[in-house]
Amino acid sequence: MNIIRKWRTLRILKHYPIPFDIWLEVTKNLPLIQARPVSERARIRLLATLFIHKKTFTGAAGLKVTPEMAVTVAAQACVAILHLGLNSYDGWIEVILYPGAFQIKRDVTDENGVVHSQTRGLSGESWSRGPVIFSWQDIKHDSQQPYRGHNVVIHEFAHKLDMLSGRANGMPPLHPDMSLQEWTETLTAAWQGLLRDLAAHKHTYLDPYAATNPAEFFAVLSEYFFTTPEALKQHNAHLFEQLQAYYRQSPPDLEAFHNKHYA
Ligand SMILES: [Zn+2]
Repeated sequence: MNIIRKWRTLRILKHYPIPFDIWLEVTKNLPLIQARPVSERARIRLLATLFIHKKTFTGAAGLKVTPEMAVTVAAQACVAILHLGLNSYDGWIEVILYPGAFQIKRDVTDENGVVHSQTRGLSGESWSRGPVIFSWQDIKHDSQQPYRGHNVVIHEFAHKLDMLSGRANGMPPLHPDMSLQEWTETLTAAWQGLLRDLAAHKHTYLDPYAATNPAEFFAVLSEYFFTTPEALKQHNAHLFEQLQAYYRQSPPDLEAFHNKHYA
């Protein structure tokens, strides 16, 4: 980091940190943060402070974005990059929040080459080099009960990390100590296994949405990795190890945390 950038970063952290009362009020309801040790929570707060300064938050369809909403998004986004660095979210600036599921109208070309206009309700979407868009209702739901493999914030930011390699294809830029071949073979085998199980109408451990394409597979896997890592490890230890090597961390198990503190 050059001197001016370092000075600016320190200035933001010193003069404009997320107010402690807002931070505590928001994160006490976020198992993704609460299950972490104190030292990590402090680091996530610093990263979230910088995240909020680097990004813009826009409310859509009449939603007014509050500081609490911005902290809810930023804190969980920073869990994913805790050991990757905030630069992993460079190249785009806008986070857009809708009050609920939002409609996106787009043209889809069918197998006969005919273009249809399609409208779908979405809970989140990441655009390459563009905004990340969320339904606030879905963020709230997933953030407070995320221990079953669902967290829309993790999902959309996993797409952002994936897109760092140029396009979303289920392969974010790997670290020098990782094997490209191992990553590809492990994820491809698991994805194809999921496709086979679905074709055979078998019950699948992973959400069938993960079968959509390799990009969705990586995003859904990331949700399991951060919310229910123990179960993911038992389901497929190789897959878990690849995600652990990429994210450079072993997340706490949120289900175990919940049972210990709230059950
Ligand atoms: Zn997705």
